[in-house]
Amino acid sequence: MKSSIWENLYGHEEIKSFLKEVIEKGNFSHSYLFSGPQGVGKHTAAIFFSAALNCQFKGCGVCPSCVKALNGNHPDILSIKPEGNFIIIDQIREIQHEALLKPFEGKIKAYIIDESESLTLQAANALLKSLEEPPPNLIYILIASQPESLPETIISRCQIIKFKSIPQAQISQILRRKYNLSSGEIELYTRLSQGILGKAIELVQRDGLSDLRRKIFRSIKVIPQADTLKLLDLAEEFYLEGKKFFRELKERQGEEKTFLEGLAISSSHLSHIRRVLERKHQREISKEEHKRVGEVLSFLLLFFRDAFLTAESDGEDLIINIDQKREIRDFSSSFSLDSIKKCWEIVEETKRAVRANANFRLAYEVMFFKLKEVLSA
Ligand SMILES: [Zn+2]
Repeated sequence: MKSSIWENLYGHEEIKSFLKEVIEKGNFSHSYLFSGPQGVGKHTAAIFFSAALNCQFKGCGVCPSCVKALNGNHPDILSIKPEGNFIIIDQIREIQHEALLKPFEGKIKAYIIDESESLTLQAANALLKSLEEPPPNLIYILIASQPESLPETIISRCQIIKFKSIPQAQISQILRRKYNLSSGEIELYTRLSQGILGKAIELVQRDGLSDLRRKIFRSIKVIPQADTLKLLDLAEEFYLEGKKFFRELKERQGEEKTFLEGLAISSSHLSHIRRVLERKHQREISKEEHKRVGEVLSFLLLFFRDAFLTAESDGEDLIINIDQKREIRDFSSSFSLDSIKKCWEIVEETKRAVRANANFRLAYEVMFFKLKEVLSA
């Protein structure tokens, strides 16, 4: 059988056949919007689609053009993503400038815009102009997990492709094939992933993520008896947890700094580079921090969710944190359904506050005090 790049995109059968047919017929549109939950495979699909458009075998996955695309160094396939919280107009201008040039070696230039909902209004307006008058051999693929935040004018220009989470059985199967895991681990990661393959893989691959989850659960047990000082300690611990994963990012930023500083042509140019980079790096750190805090809160939410379902319906099948069944059952039998529901709401509320840029430490403190109030009532 001929090899195909699509074999490595798991699930999403309908989308795959649709995109394959587009390539077969050569009738692609100039702008697509790939929407769906984060980690579900949108970016991967966008890379594969761009590779297939440029492959003389329509997506073999092994020719030099495909290999470059898969390694992220095909000169005609570019991705941009937010630097910090936003995609700014300069980033769009840069690709628009590039777009005027013919493809370097492929047939079609593909611009993948990750997290496109973070386009600033200015950037979105600039992009809109390109979507209205696209050059013939160019496509834009916008990726969004919250497409409703995109301006309607942009959405209406795009062909929308909706990605959905994939069945848990399929996730288990993939984990079993790709990683050396016990069946307990496979079951746990499958449930935690909630149908998002990227999440399952992150849980397997990222050191410390499983420990973090257990640590968070341990701290829940402490809350009912905690005094003020202990609650503040917990908040501090959670706060510091969000800063632990920065090593990789800092390393990458260091490399980037060394590289770009080496390109400086004068001392004023050098200080310009430093100023720009410092702002960029600060934005990246803030974004990473938000992501980590979101993760911690999501684990907390899952705990209360499980406890709620256990208390409400004794539905153990529905438990996600399957390895903590006993703890969850203990917890849910010690508190009323109403209290557990309140805890769930408190964490939701904290998540919203953090998203709206609340101070993390303060948000955690408020959260722990409120949880304590509920759990010791
Ligand atoms: Zn190929």
